[in-house]
Amino acid sequence: DKTFPTNDCAMCTISPKLNDIAQNPNITLLTNSRLKGLEGEAGHFRVKVLRKPRYIREELCTGCGTCQEKCPQRVPSEFDQGLGERKAIFVAYPQAIPRIPIIDPSHCRYFRESKCRVCERVCPRGAIDYSQREEKLELEVGAIIVAIGFNLFDPRRKPEYGYGNSPRILTSLQLERLLSSTGPTGGEIRIAGEVPRKFIFIHCVGSRDRMVGHPYCSRFCCMYTAKQALEVKERIPEAEITVCYMDVRAFGKGYEELYERAQRRGILYRRGLPGEIFERDGRVIVRLEDTLLGKTLELEAEAVVLACGAEPPKDALELSRVLGLELDENGFFKGGDPLDPVISSRPGILLAGCCQGPKDISDSVAQASGAASRALALLSQRGR
Ligand code: SF4
Ligand code: SF4
Repeated sequence: DKTFPTNDCAMCTISPKLNDIAQNPNITLLTNSRLKGLEGEAGHFRVKVLRKPRYIREELCTGCGTCQEKCPQRVPSEFDQGLGERKAIFVAYPQAIPRIPIIDPSHCRYFRESKCRVCERVCPRGAIDYSQREEKLELEVGAIIVAIGFNLFDPRRKPEYGYGNSPRILTSLQLERLLSSTGPTGGEIRIAGEVPRKFIFIHCVGSRDRMVGHPYCSRFCCMYTAKQALEVKERIPEAEITVCYMDVRAFGKGYEELYERAQRRGILYRRGLPGEIFERDGRVIVRLEDTLLGKTLELEAEAVVLACGAEPPKDALELSRVLGLELDENGFFKGGDPLDPVISSRPGILLAGCCQGPKDISDSVAQASGAASRALALLSQRGR
């Protein structure tokens, strides 16, 4: 919702760029598509793309939203991290480009039970098309930039943290959706039907943790936690907030100041990560050893937020095989040269963002700009 350390509105930053992409006549946007094959070499690649059906005729759809409003089939919303609902015909998130819905056949009543067809009846443009099939495309391109992001660590892999056992134990991304005005509560922090007053944030969930196979630091959880804790304090001034940490990594420009601001606002940083988190009588209990005090403590909270780290994107392995790229020991795409973070292990294929390793937004933007200019240089050398 907001970006650290400046608390800028994330969508206000990215939406104009998404619109530029949609409107640029020199950019073809293929959503809902997967790369299936690659031949050739830098400057002269041939790629095979599988375009999955949307079941909407894009050229007819105006994005009016009537179909979504009338669709009777409700499903937990992936974008709202399961805290809200979407319909079987839906737009992935409010500012998605293109603003054209898609039918999810795994939940649509027509695809499952051959009934309903409400969306077809209500669409004023006749844009619904249940007969659409996958399309195979072949493209000639000079360079490829891989920017498939990361996956958030699933805290169920640390059962001692109790995620899934109580609605009061949330991931950081779930809190982010609660903080957003377009989120399931319209920006109100309401958990299990009440506004919590006592929060505990837990750092390094799935990061710097060899037990889950993630020895690396995710590089953004310390700072998004400080940002979220300040945002909670802003909205619930009487909130008591504790952050449990191993050590705080505030390495970027303005980050140390953000960390200091959080402490000045009364957010308590307690050194030590929990051994156990569980619900008791409608409250969450966090057991931990405070390594500064040398004491084992039992803290009580009305909401616990797990600052989940980054792990390789789920499609990294499949895409690395299609593209002939190497992955590193943690499963992220391997850079071709430690001093040149935009190049991959194959000429003509460049890397940007967290698919190459966890990084914050400003580092991702810097790397993406580098990858884009390297691609342009390659194309101009080859006269494309
Ligand atoms: Fe598009 Fe028809 Fe749905 Fe409106 S009702 S968003 S035109 S498919
Ligand atoms: Fe929703 Fe499917 Fe019915 Fe359309 S046919 S309204 S997508 S359940």
